[in-house]
Amino acid sequence: MSRLRATIGLAVVLAACAPGATSAPPEPTAEGDIPAHSSISPHDDHPALARLDPALLAAVRQATEDARRSGIELRVTSGWRSADYQRRLLDAAIAKHGSLEEARRWVATPEGSAHVTGEAVDIGPTDAADWLIRNGDRYGLCQTYANEMWHFELRTTPGGQCPAPLPDAGG
Ligand SMILES: [Zn+2]
Repeated sequence: MSRLRATIGLAVVLAACAPGATSAPPEPTAEGDIPAHSSISPHDDHPALARLDPALLAAVRQATEDARRSGIELRVTSGWRSADYQRRLLDAAIAKHGSLEEARRWVATPEGSAHVTGEAVDIGPTDAADWLIRNGDRYGLCQTYANEMWHFELRTTPGGQCPAPLPDAGG
């Protein structure tokens, strides 16, 4: 009888520990998401930065140090994104703009996004993006799309010349 009680007690303990019963919510940043209207420092420990191309992250950090001397603070509003997160952004853009074709001018597909491969960062606020448009070529950082002043990729060698931005991401 006491053995039965012990068995039941153990079963209750195991049930309480079973996955799903008390599992923690998913790590909020594991997909690289940074909530809208917020940003992180390029020096933060965050999946959106940890999974960037190391050369890109190093360039952004160097630019951040130099911009600070001019009184400009570079912030990252988006970096690496999981494919699932990119898909959700695209779905939201389709809902907002009414069609995939129009949405793709602003948000790439998971297959086509340089954020998903860790090769793009979005920089804010506006004065920081403006600073990087004017000075990014020192670090190889270039504005990629004319309609996205915040989106930068390594498109030249440090000190080289950035190619002209594409009109938008839809091409
Ligand atoms: Zn971007």
